[in-house]
Amino acid sequence: MFEKVLIANRGEIALRIHRACREMGIKTVAVHSTADADAMHVRLADESVCIGPPAAKESYLNIPAILSAATITGADAIHPGIGFMAENAQFAEMVIEHGFAWIGPTPEHIRIMGDKVTAKKTVIGLGLPCVPGSDGPVESFEVAASVADSIGYPVLIKAAAGGGGKGMKVAWDRDQLREAYQLARGEARAAFGNDEVYLEKYLANPRHIEIQLLGDHHGNVVHFGERDCSIQRRHQKVVEEAPSPALNAEEREKVGSLAARTAKLLGYRGAGTMEFLYENGQFYFIEMNTRLQIEHTITEMITGVDLVREQIKVATGAPLGITQADVRFNGHSIECRINAEHPESFMPSPGQIKQYHAPGGLGVRVDSALYVGYRVPPHYDSMIAKLIVHGNSRNECLMRLRRALEEFVIEGVDTSIPLHMKIIAEPDFINGQYDIKWMEEWMKRRS
Ligand code: ADP
Repeated sequence: MFEKVLIANRGEIALRIHRACREMGIKTVAVHSTADADAMHVRLADESVCIGPPAAKESYLNIPAILSAATITGADAIHPGIGFMAENAQFAEMVIEHGFAWIGPTPEHIRIMGDKVTAKKTVIGLGLPCVPGSDGPVESFEVAASVADSIGYPVLIKAAAGGGGKGMKVAWDRDQLREAYQLARGEARAAFGNDEVYLEKYLANPRHIEIQLLGDHHGNVVHFGERDCSIQRRHQKVVEEAPSPALNAEEREKVGSLAARTAKLLGYRGAGTMEFLYENGQFYFIEMNTRLQIEHTITEMITGVDLVREQIKVATGAPLGITQADVRFNGHSIECRINAEHPESFMPSPGQIKQYHAPGGLGVRVDSALYVGYRVPPHYDSMIAKLIVHGNSRNECLMRLRRALEEFVIEGVDTSIPLHMKIIAEPDFINGQYDIKWMEEWMKRRS
């Protein structure tokens, strides 16, 4: 087992990883920017190293500074968390070359899945169904138009290097495609330094269903069921639940074993998630995230498995201690992502936390690095807390979520708590009848 893990991240996820390490008897090293000197993960870690100024480029994305911090503290492994370096194959390679263990999949798998065009080609070759679209990157508007003619409008232009919904544009006809194509390329170039794009049929009313996977160095892969992440705004998840209210046991088994089988054929190791769109009884692979995900928590709640602990364990080379038959599902879980932003305008709201009271009680979990007096910095992602609730049934879970949101007090910054209260009170949500377009249509109806 590792003795000391460096956590190359910040915020709630750094804390989440620290907690798993602590419970495993592993010492932790926090790295932080000058803006995060007072952050909770820095306070709780055994050691901390300042790796640069506030701008992520000069701190959390600063490879030499992170590797130096690992060297001087004598860490034996690096956990990249979520975002920042988590899907940077070159970083993973350098971590390994410098003699540290990398708590993640192989750089090769990160590279394959990081390029969505290659990812789709790879999984199609292994028998996974994908959304109809271009066979590869689309290099000109003329090619885009001919692909669109053959698959039919509307189409979605997506960035090969995409993430966070960036570089994604819908076109309903040829004229729109002309503009959307240029816009998507420009956005992709600005966000990822790579303007390669591809085309997909824009599905009408799908749900976002994803499968949590975990593989070891010995060819074993287990899946932990699905998460339904269809409540989205701008292609970004807002509320997630497990299991999905839209799947029956047979469909769950079908998509779960399909994903696990594909990961096994790939020789995938570490934690990962295969994302699918689900429409009219069909599953279409859209991408694989080669890392932990924010919403891994709801899977933990219904399976009782600490995914970060297992992720660290398999990174040591130890075999998975769990077989597929050991994975049991119990009850229902929902997560609300709470952001420091205005609940109606979505304007970011950094600032100092004046009051903080987290809800508690049976089945309530809050993953957050907030405390009274903490200053939410303006430099990073606006998510400040995850409220995760478990219930024996979906209804119990919903009732518990409502009372937990009512108890939650965060003062000093605007938060999305009022928005979550409204979403979960909607009959469509209560009935589990929503798709990936539901939230934006609901907001339009309200304005
Ligand atoms: P990113 O990596 O940028 O998050 P994804 O490929 O995971 O991009 O897609 C994000 C979201 O965009 C999906 O959850 C879904 O809501 C929407 N989306 C992606 N592909 C399609 C499609 N072909 N048709 C309709 N919606 C899509």
